[in-house]
Parts: sequence; structure tokens; C-alpha cells
Amino acid sequence: MRLPRPLAIVLCALSTGCGGGEVARAGGAADGGPVSVDRSAVLAYPDDPQALSDADWRRILTPEEYHVLRERGTERAFSGEYWNHHQDGVYVCAACGQVLFRSDDKFDSGTGWPSYTRPADPGAVSTREDRSWGMVRTEAVCSRCGGHLGHVFDDGPPPTGKRWCINSVSLDFVPAVASPLEAGATGPTSSGPSGD
Ligand SMILES: [Zn+2]
Repeated sequence: MRLPRPLAIVLCALSTGCGGGEVARAGGAADGGPVSVDRSAVLAYPDDPQALSDADWRRILTPEEYHVLRERGTERAFSGEYWNHHQDGVYVCAACGQVLFRSDDKFDSGTGWPSYTRPADPGAVSTREDRSWGMVRTEAVCSRCGGHLGHVFDDGPPPTGKRWCINSVSLDFVPAVASPLEAGATGPTSSGPSGD
């Protein structure tokens, strides 16, 4: 996890039409409305990851992230940041920032890798057959940037029976932020009912 990253600046240099607005916004002016995630963290990711070259990814990602996300590597079990992580929030792609999994769907699989019963959205994670290492497995890939996440197995708990076994390195965590509405709703109002 390397948030916030200077990606907005990197992309600005790569893009011809950047007027600097994204960089300024990354500094942190909120829009004023209720937000659920830290906007400055979201803006640290590339706008169009499909446009990035292999050289770009090497520059943007750490060597470990590059190995897992772009070379389909696997982190050592029990070595990652999130296998034993229990905060409320969402897990986003460490390469492009797309929301991939929710803490509500996370479970302790005992494998040493963060495990989920399903993606946050059915379209967020793509799957494809992986015949490496003499096995036939189902690889899980970020649908936005194509980054390797991990594998899916059929030995998960209800309600899906699936175990999405994901590398911590492929994820960044964005904690849930209580909305102003929830923060203010602390039981019965003391101001009394307003008349109609
Ligand atoms: Zn991605």
C-alpha cells in the first residue's frame, strides 16, 4: 500500500490534455456532499489504465506489485497486509483503484491470503482459465486494468460457496467513512416533532 501516490502527476506528464485540475483536486478540496471514501486516494490512480505501457506500469508499481499484478506472481501465505485485516471498508485494485471487494464479504479462510465470498460487483473481477504449474485453476483479474489478483475456488462458505483467494499486494484498503447523516442520528431528536 503506497497511498497517496504521485500517479496523478505521472499521468499528467503522459497526457497531452491535462490542465492541472486533477492534481489540484488531489490536494484535497472536498465537494461538500456526503462521501464514503477518501477522494484524494481515489484520484491517485490512473484515469485510463488500458493506455499504460509495460514501462509505465514498471514506473508506477512497486517491484512486488509489478510481479504479482503484471507477471501473475503470488505473495507468500501469511505475509501480506490483509489476510488478517478486519476493518470495515472496501478493497480496491492496487494498480487502478477499481473497487473489487467489500469487507462484508471477507472471511477467514485459514490460507494466509485475504479471501472473499464474492466481488463487490459482478463486473469488477473477470475470470479466465489458468493452466500454469500443471494445474487447471480459475484466475481472478481486475476487469478495469487486467491486473492479476489471485484465483477462485469452489470450496468457500455460504452464500456463494466460492473462495476468492486474493493477493494482498494486489489490493489497497479504503476504510468506510461514516456519513454525516449517520453521525448525527444519535437516537430520538430532542427538538420535538415539527408540525405539518
Ligand atoms: Zn485494476
